[in-house]
Amino acid sequence: MLRVLAWLARVQGYDWQNWFNGSFPTAEVSAGNFSLYSHGVNNAVAVKWAAAWSDVYGPPALAEASLHAWQQLQRFHGLPSGAFGADEHLAGRELHRGTELCVVVESMRSLEETYAALPDRPELVDALEALAFNALPAAVSGDHWSHQYLTQNNAIFAGIESASASEGAEGEASPLSEVFGNVGLDATMYGISPNFPCCTVNFAQGWGKFVALGLWLFDPGTPREMPLLLSAALAPSTVKLPMLEVELETIYPFNPEASLRYVVRKASTPFQLLVRVPCWAELSRSEVRGPQGAWKVPTDVSPRPSVFTFLVEKPDVWEVRFAARWQLVLDPQGSAGHFSLGPLIFVKPLAHQAVPVPLDDGPYGPGPNPPPAVRDEMLLPTEDWAWVYFLNESWEEGLESQMLESVAHFDRCPSAFVPGALWRSWAKTPSPGVQVPPQPEVPDFGPITRLELQPMGCTKLRMTQLPIRWHRGRGANEKGGERLPW
Ligand SMILES: [Zn+2]
Repeated sequence: MLRVLAWLARVQGYDWQNWFNGSFPTAEVSAGNFSLYSHGVNNAVAVKWAAAWSDVYGPPALAEASLHAWQQLQRFHGLPSGAFGADEHLAGRELHRGTELCVVVESMRSLEETYAALPDRPELVDALEALAFNALPAAVSGDHWSHQYLTQNNAIFAGIESASASEGAEGEASPLSEVFGNVGLDATMYGISPNFPCCTVNFAQGWGKFVALGLWLFDPGTPREMPLLLSAALAPSTVKLPMLEVELETIYPFNPEASLRYVVRKASTPFQLLVRVPCWAELSRSEVRGPQGAWKVPTDVSPRPSVFTFLVEKPDVWEVRFAARWQLVLDPQGSAGHFSLGPLIFVKPLAHQAVPVPLDDGPYGPGPNPPPAVRDEMLLPTEDWAWVYFLNESWEEGLESQMLESVAHFDRCPSAFVPGALWRSWAKTPSPGVQVPPQPEVPDFGPITRLELQPMGCTKLRMTQLPIRWHRGRGANEKGGERLPW
């Protein structure tokens, strides 16, 4: 019955195999070309088509088409948050364009399904962790009572765009955004159902399915084979099955280099514990420790291991620590960039104030007598946003970071510090569709200061990608307020 249903869905549905190959858009889709193929959430859902098909019909290699679909979305529409530009339809890679929250959670679901079909491709879970630890928390308030419909990587304002510029459009039931592809004016506002209620009912599946499908995979094997337990995405958690129980003790990802302690509490039958090796991990500095002592991590084998494998025969403790290096991810011109460490994207947070907005009393509103935590609000910046990084070739030496050391520190965020300065002429750009310019044309910078960066998921207004003023020689990474000689 399932096989018949799969065939019916394929012949009556869209041809996603063709879409992600020949006709895939390599830039933002303009209004005249909108279709259900170019719709962002449809693309996020469709990524898993090949993995699901191969699970029913095989061959397993067909699932590679799901990986290819994700690579196409990232190549032409990918954003630092780990998501892709889709402010209703595919929107390209500009940092001010939006990503719908439904795109984030449906992409997570697709990556979870695709990795289950391709467990030798650890980059799929790197992508999943990027979404879970950056794009998802960036779009949702800490208490989960409010969220955005669209999230921006560079966001200097969250709220209702001025209606005045759009009121002239004839035939529009309600004015549309001039910044984003096809949404209303309130798409970046934090609230119960900004723009449209799909994300309201959808976003809660993000964490739930991440835990259910993303953290652990189990294969009972055949009577001749040993069961396999695969630790895929890394987060504190416990898996309990009739024959085994394992707890992962860690503060990852709040410290990407944190110890991952696999405490085996029950092993009534021998099994293999597999730990995914992230693509960003530096194996030469990573560490593995088992009941018999430390292991040397293999660094000279080809291909690079996609998992570490441990034979577990009784309750014991296995420990892994993946070493990470700070990355400065540059734009194609090398004139702007953003920082990352392991799965975390570090951004310049913008201090802001919340301004309440009257609750929607229409069909998408909360109805009478909502709980007190229900709110609609705009976030307005209370500090400058037009910063420029001041870096030299040895920027990594000048970067200071403060990672969390224990769960006792969970009331604050990790942080990093890099030198930067305000670029006064850029600050005059109208908001909220602020774009990163290719190069500072007028070097009217303020004093060099130490910019504190935080993980994107800790921020609500932010600048993720900033222009870079490259400085040769010493001095660019020094702290303090002095101006550099040019
Ligand atoms: Zn939605």
